[in-house]
Amino acid sequence: MIMTTIASQIHRVQAQIHDACQKANRPPASVDLLAVSKTFPAQAVREAALAGQRAFGENYIQEAVEKIAAIQVMPDVPALTWHCIGPIQSNKTKLVAQHFDWAHTVDREKIAQRLHDQRPANLPPLQVCIQVNVDGGETKSGCNAQEAVALARAIAQMPRLTLRGVMSIPDAQPTEAQTLAVHRKVVAVFEQIRSAGIEGLAHFDTISLGMTADMSAAIAAGSTMVRVGSGVFGARDYGAKVSSADMGA
Ligand SMILES: *Cc1c(COP(=O)(O)O)cnc(C)c1O
Repeated sequence: MIMTTIASQIHRVQAQIHDACQKANRPPASVDLLAVSKTFPAQAVREAALAGQRAFGENYIQEAVEKIAAIQVMPDVPALTWHCIGPIQSNKTKLVAQHFDWAHTVDREKIAQRLHDQRPANLPPLQVCIQVNVDGGETKSGCNAQEAVALARAIAQMPRLTLRGVMSIPDAQPTEAQTLAVHRKVVAVFEQIRSAGIEGLAHFDTISLGMTADMSAAIAAGSTMVRVGSGVFGARDYGAKVSSADMGA
């Protein structure tokens, strides 16, 4: 076999990104693919890396730390960037600060402050996105627009964090028009932060939005980073791969 399944799926997802960009009149290079490798073994990440993929997203901190360590000793795998896209509890901030390049799910100043304080001095600043909630009411993680602007102001003061943008996980909507409308609300929060006159946002350029199912709508709305799991790696088996340390978190 010339091309692995994972490699061919990456090429297919890249082609879908390309198409969605064309339809939206956007340059294809304006959208990055984050391959979401949660529940998949290090060997699957290796395959994706050998097919050219460099950015990977993980939800479960303990699982990710073990996987990152396993991949770092594989001689044929190039340097990768690791994005934490799962919920971050206070007792997990240290592992995130030590092992990840990005954290997408920062929605409270307390968590931001801990990530800042715990970011090791020998690493570049942790790249962070503010998780925003545009559709879920009070019960869902993420900031509303007003909280997001306040949090952006606070993070801009933290030298060991670089604020990169916003992230959201909108609920599935019954129609394409409604999906697009919800995605546009996320982009509106990004614009609101950008135009709030906050100093120190020189690298604020990322809208982390869209998964396998809503990728095209997210790109139409303005996403700059789609987080694709099953589209790249296939269906997930949660029972088999989530480590016990994460189940209780
Ligand atoms: C699992 C997950 C994804 C990827 O989901 P797919 O539907 O498999 O593409 C993206 N973002 C977050 C936050 C996730 O938890």
